[in-house]
Amino acid sequence: MSNLSNDHNHNDSFIKIPTIKFTKLFINGEFVDSVSGKTFETVDPRTEEVITEIAEATKEDVGIAVKAAREAFDSGPWPRMTGAERAKIMLKWAELIDQNLEEIAALDTIDGGKLYSWCKTVDIPAATNILRYYAGAADKIHGQVFKTSRNLHLYTLMEPVGVIGQIIPWNFPTIMFFTKASPALAAGCTVVLKPSEQTPLSALFYAHLAKLAGIPDGVLNVVPGLGSNAGAAISSHMDIDAVSFTGSTETGREVMKAAAMSNLKPVSLELGGKSPVLIFDDADVDEAVDLALFGILHNKGEICVAFSRVYVQEGIYDKFEKKVLEKAKNWVVGDPFDPKVQQGPQTSKAQFDKILSYIEHGKKEGATLLTGGKKLGNKGYYIEPTIFTNVKEDMLVSQDEIFGPVMVLSKFKTIEEAIKTANNTRYGLAAGIVTKNLNIANSVSRSIRAGIIWINCFFAFDIDCPFGGFKMSGFGKDYGLEALHKYLQAKSVATPIYNSPWL
Ligand code: NAD
Repeated sequence: MSNLSNDHNHNDSFIKIPTIKFTKLFINGEFVDSVSGKTFETVDPRTEEVITEIAEATKEDVGIAVKAAREAFDSGPWPRMTGAERAKIMLKWAELIDQNLEEIAALDTIDGGKLYSWCKTVDIPAATNILRYYAGAADKIHGQVFKTSRNLHLYTLMEPVGVIGQIIPWNFPTIMFFTKASPALAAGCTVVLKPSEQTPLSALFYAHLAKLAGIPDGVLNVVPGLGSNAGAAISSHMDIDAVSFTGSTETGREVMKAAAMSNLKPVSLELGGKSPVLIFDDADVDEAVDLALFGILHNKGEICVAFSRVYVQEGIYDKFEKKVLEKAKNWVVGDPFDPKVQQGPQTSKAQFDKILSYIEHGKKEGATLLTGGKKLGNKGYYIEPTIFTNVKEDMLVSQDEIFGPVMVLSKFKTIEEAIKTANNTRYGLAAGIVTKNLNIANSVSRSIRAGIIWINCFFAFDIDCPFGGFKMSGFGKDYGLEALHKYLQAKSVATPIYNSPWL
């Protein structure tokens, strides 16, 4: 347990834990109990203790939320106001989030075990950046006018798609909330959003601030609940016009099936990954080790784009393995409020158990456990940074998304071999290349089938640049104007010029 922070004491000595203010469903501008009166517990992964009970949306509550969103779309002001008016309200919302930054950061930390300093300085600022970006786009939505060879005045109107269902995971509760809600709202759609049952706290706080900012009733509805019930009710609802989902590939398949079997609503799916990073002989070994470790241990490995497969060229492999082992052993795991800590607890007991069982499986399959592999401490869902070597490509630890602090480390000889192995996965979300050689960087980045390639960096996103997976990592991009267009549909309008013939 050498890398468990000494200050790992769970007594909240680092920060004042906020009082939980919002625990009910947010429907039609009001916080309400669920129709069934059911609640579910949300748990602090640092202590394994229940933080609070949250009203549990079921199919009936989703139905009520959809009705409110439908009325707000069909006859409310939101889709009818100018883009500039929507932008003003969205910008006010962003300002209110800034004013409540510390309280919300603490909510994501106690709910999801995320590093408090990251929530405060990275996640929430990134989320308000997303909100401001789409606020800025709201008054720049326009169709096209077509110069036809016929006497027709022909143009397109870009209209909001309607009522949007949005289902998000627990690893980035804040960024995911705004990645989904911001472009939909900017387009003039109304939203029924289901946060993960593991991390509902910040979503309800955002709903409260949306109301204060002036988002009209029914435009944004937040319905925490279980995936199999509230989530399934969203994807199968006949009156939801489109669904945007982020989560696992398995659930994405269910969402797509339900959408197809109900009203054929379009879906966009941001799914899992098993992303490789290829480290070439010319790389600076220290920098490469830091990048690879950050790539798998950031957010305790609960990142869809995590560099979970690390391939190092044979010339520097031994040096790399020695250094990565040393640094992994000194990685500081502990209370995510402690500024010294680099890795907090896994978000939930289920995730903690799943990761440990993958580690056991890797050992049984014959991979070598270079370091880690065990839980840390007596309380909380802490897991040691873990590295496997001598891994065969067909082993589960090489193929499945573990979604935890577990690196699979292998050696390669040639560029061709590296590309082939990198692509040997059903996923295609992200990939990394570490080299100073431009020819290698350019050719490898063109050969890997993944939605984003990071050359000598990791997790470098910009809101203006679309992001989304290839292969079984999904389809339909988030971010950029591409995401705005998921929530718009072109309507073509034709009219004869003067009284000219139209056929
Ligand atoms: P998950 O698929 O278990 O759950 C995601 C959401 O779907 C939750 O809100 C859940 O309640 C809901 N859900 C579960 N079953 C459902 C059903 N039958 N119908 C409708 N909704 C249902 O995923 P998770 O464990 O919350 O998150 C981890 C996964 O998310 C990982 O696979 C990760 O790679 C992926 N992820 C992807 C991205 C990306 O941008 N590609 C980003 C973050 C996370």
